[in-house]
Amino acid sequence: MTGCADETQVIVKLTEIIDRVLAGKGAADIDIGDIHGLQSPELNALAEKVIMLNTQYLSSRSFILELARGVLDAEPPRRNFFADPYKQLHSELCHLTWQITQIADGDYDQKVYFLGDFAVAINKMIASLRERQQLSDKIIEDEKQLRQYSEELKASNATKDRLFSIISHDLRNPFNALVALSETMVNDLEAGDSEMAIDYARMMHDSVMQGYQLLVNLLDWSRQQSNKIVYTPRPFNPRNVINYIIGLVELSAASKHITVEFTAGSEYTIDSDETLFSTIVRNLISNALKYTPDGGHVSVEITRAAGSYNISVKDSGVGIAAHRQAMLFSADATVSTPGTNSETGTGLGLLLCKDFVRMLGGKIWVESEEGKGSTFTFSVPEKPATDEA
Ligand code: ADP
Repeated sequence: MTGCADETQVIVKLTEIIDRVLAGKGAADIDIGDIHGLQSPELNALAEKVIMLNTQYLSSRSFILELARGVLDAEPPRRNFFADPYKQLHSELCHLTWQITQIADGDYDQKVYFLGDFAVAINKMIASLRERQQLSDKIIEDEKQLRQYSEELKASNATKDRLFSIISHDLRNPFNALVALSETMVNDLEAGDSEMAIDYARMMHDSVMQGYQLLVNLLDWSRQQSNKIVYTPRPFNPRNVINYIIGLVELSAASKHITVEFTAGSEYTIDSDETLFSTIVRNLISNALKYTPDGGHVSVEITRAAGSYNISVKDSGVGIAAHRQAMLFSADATVSTPGTNSETGTGLGLLLCKDFVRMLGGKIWVESEEGKGSTFTFSVPEKPATDEA
C-alpha cells in the first residue's frame, strides 16, 4: 500500500469494500493506502479486519462458484470461514464421484451414505445392479455348461455311430471268413485231406488275428473316447514288449512270406506306460504286415535320441501317397484302405497311436513313398511324462 491515507478517505474506501462484499463480488481492485499511518488505532483495526474479510471472501468465491457448477478439481482454500461449510460438501461429492466410478466398473459392494433419500435411491440401484450381474453371470455359466454338454453329446453320438458302423461292417468280415474257412476245413478233414486243412487253419489264424486286432482297437478306442485310459508309467524293457508282439504276428507274417527283423542297440529301460507303448507298436507292426505284399520285409528298430527313444517300423510295402500322409493322424479325415491280402481295417489304429503317443509325451511321424514302403516312427521320453498325462 502506498501513500499516507487520510482517515475520511479510508472510511469511504472501507465502506466501498464492505458494499462490494455485500453485493457478492468482493473488491479486488481497491487500494486503501497505508493504514499504518492512521492516527486512530480503532480505525486501523477496522481497516485490517475489512481487508482480511475481503481477502477471505475473494479466495472462497471462486472455489464456491466452481463447486456450484459441479467442478470438483479446485482445492478448497485453507482457513477460510466463508469456504469452511463447503469443504465437507466438496469432500462428500468427491467421494460420491469415486464411488459411482467404482460402481460403473462393477464394484457392487459400495454403500452410499451421503444425502439421505439420494443415498437410499443409489443403494437400491446398486442392489438391483448386483442382482442383475449375478443373474447374468449365472446365465453365462449355464450357457457355457450347456455348450459343453452339447459338445460332449455330439462327440459321444459320433463315437456311437462310428462304433456301430465298425461293428456292422468291419468286425463282420473276419468272422465271415472264419465261418467259411472252418466249414471248408471240416469238409476237407472229413474227406481225409489234412494238407489242405492245415492251409485253412493258417488262414483261420490270420482271420482270428485280424478280428482280435480290430476288437482290441475298438475297445481301446471306446475307452479312450470316454477318458477311461489312464497314463500309468513304470519301468519296462521295450525289447521284451516288441519281441512279444513280433511273436504274436509270426504266423501272419509267415503266411505272407514276410521277414520281420528287430534291431535294438543295447539293453534299454523305458519308464513309461507299457500298455500304451505296446498298443502303438502292435498297431504299427500289424499295419506294416497288412500293407506289405507277399515276400516283403518289415524291420523294427529302437534308437536312442536326447532324453528319449525312437521306435521305427519300416516296411517294403505299398507306401502312402504324399497327399494322404498328412491326413493319416487326423480324426476328421480317417480313411481306411484294404491290405495287400484284402485285409479290412477301421482307420482307428493310427488315431489310437497318435493319442497314445501324446499321452506318453512323445511324437509320431511317417516317411513314405508310394510303391516303395513306409517308415512309421514314434518317440518316447525316457522319464514319465507326468505333465502330458
Ligand atoms: P486301418 O489299418 O485299420 O485302416 P489305421 O489307422 O491303422 O487303420 O491306418 C489308416 C490307413 O493308413 C490305412 O487304411 C492305410 O491306408 C494307411 N496305412 C497305415 N499304415 C500303413 C503302412 N504301413 N503302409 C501303407 N499304408 C498304411
